[in-house]
Amino acid sequence: MMQFLQLSHFGKEAVAKRELPQGSALQTLVKNGVLTIEERIESRLRDYSDMELVDPQSIVLNEEQQQAFDCLQSNSHNIFLLHGVTSSGKTEVYIKMIDEVVRAGGQALFLLPEIALTAQIINRLRKYFGGKVGIYHSRFSASERTEVWHRTLSGEYQVLLGARSAIFLPFKDLKLIIVDEEHDSSYKQFEPSPRYHARDAALYLARQWEAKTVLGSATPSVETHFNALQERYGMATMTKRYGGFSLPEVTCVDMKEAHRQGLVKGHFSVALLQAIEEALSKKQQVILFQNRRGFSLRLECDDCHEVPHCVHCDVSLVYHKATNSLRCHYCGYSIPVPSECPACHSTHLKMTGVGTERIEEDLQILFPEACVARMDLDSTLQKNQYLEILSDFEHRRIDILVGTQMVTKGLDFEHVSVVGIINADNIINYPSFRSYERAFQQMTQVSGRAGRHNGGGKVIIQTYNPYHQVIANVMDNDYQSLYNEQIQERRVFRYPPFYRLIEITLKHRDAEVLNAAADWMAFHLRSAFATRVLGPEYPLVSRIRGLYLKQITLRFEKSEPVADAKRVIRQIGDDLTKQEGWSGVTVIYDVDPA
Ligand SMILES: [Zn+2]
Ligand SMILES: [Zn+2]
Repeated sequence: MMQFLQLSHFGKEAVAKRELPQGSALQTLVKNGVLTIEERIESRLRDYSDMELVDPQSIVLNEEQQQAFDCLQSNSHNIFLLHGVTSSGKTEVYIKMIDEVVRAGGQALFLLPEIALTAQIINRLRKYFGGKVGIYHSRFSASERTEVWHRTLSGEYQVLLGARSAIFLPFKDLKLIIVDEEHDSSYKQFEPSPRYHARDAALYLARQWEAKTVLGSATPSVETHFNALQERYGMATMTKRYGGFSLPEVTCVDMKEAHRQGLVKGHFSVALLQAIEEALSKKQQVILFQNRRGFSLRLECDDCHEVPHCVHCDVSLVYHKATNSLRCHYCGYSIPVPSECPACHSTHLKMTGVGTERIEEDLQILFPEACVARMDLDSTLQKNQYLEILSDFEHRRIDILVGTQMVTKGLDFEHVSVVGIINADNIINYPSFRSYERAFQQMTQVSGRAGRHNGGGKVIIQTYNPYHQVIANVMDNDYQSLYNEQIQERRVFRYPPFYRLIEITLKHRDAEVLNAAADWMAFHLRSAFATRVLGPEYPLVSRIRGLYLKQITLRFEKSEPVADAKRVIRQIGDDLTKQEGWSGVTVIYDVDPA
């Protein structure tokens, strides 16, 4: 009783049952009518309902934004592409559209490819819609997600912001879906199943609700742009930056030539170092993009050229200096750094290839006065770490931010004036039919972080291949040329959007069993689909976590009914695992692989 009086401020407030000593004393007090127990729902989410709001009607759109808004509001299509250069002010257009929906009592879903991005946009949405905004993503606890789920179902939340899984929320009256950064490959869920593309699933969801969909991007995917040109989607474009600021000036440094002239320090060209120095002297910030994490990518014996590999996967181990270990980026296997070569016992081990950790360390040496931070998978393992890094950067406690793809996406910081791409060749030479498209998107997106609020941004691309077409396209901000070239290739080499791909991956511990099973499956698929079947072949990484991998790809013309084909494929896959000795073969289907 004493404890209750204390906690309740002498009976003025209710006390949670769990805060009182459990046992017979409590039961007796309740039985004798001294205390009563009542059930209350306690929210785990902060309440924003009495926050002071800004009326979205007060947003003044510029001419381009207004034209885009009018176009998107027209009823000519249900799906629109909003193609606006980086920092053209797409968010204001979205907010105006959401406002129309909210005022009519409906719901709007706002999808972003990364959880990190939701953190930036949430404050902008709350400013206008306060307690009507719900946020949903996989980093929330199950109980938090349950609460969002209920509030979506009841219609209390009218604006839902989330990463890809938010499309599965139980909407009450969905009127609008915005898929921002629609080109982003993070929308595709690959592991574990279900293997779905959130953009494509969103289009399906919108059709069920007869809702409008806006696909927004500065670098639309080839598929989406194709659909817009075919007039299956409506299209609005914005070609100028909001506030009249200029797009950043993009230059490239020929690293071969720079080496020849002695204008390279470690992994940095003198041109990039000068740009960084200038930015720092003006108290401006810098973002550097390197698409590999770790310190150095390989530890190699200088005498016999042995490179330590993962024992479970067909990849070399990456050196991480922070933990002084060699680690596998596929399965997490790790060993201490060996002092001598495991093959020839030579002690001449050298490190080759450079990751974000190394870039971070070198910068600290080159710019001892500057505060350098890193954002990649390793530095954001804990729940709120990425938020802390972003907040530190926003409040200028960080001068230079080094990172992987994580730094390329959508982030909006006022004081970034220089962006450096450490190694463009790594980004371009990725073996996929989408590699040029992706490289263009990543480089254009990261460039777009520069000079957003005052113009005069500077981007420096380091490359050994300065005349590469994709680099030229990025430098000229020429999406159209990139698209024309890509669509041509896709047509000739039979890729999406002209063909649909189904990728089948088979896995087994034993390479011989796997080969036999894959050949069997390819044979049966060929008798059903003839030349539409490619493979089997080993994928780029042919063994992961102790399992060998083989892939078979099928391609179907857009006009062919894929539903029937899927049934036949599934049947062949099921038959395969019924064969003697093959029950352990795992068969994975991925329709429209990213
Ligand atoms: Zn050796
Ligand atoms: Zn491994």
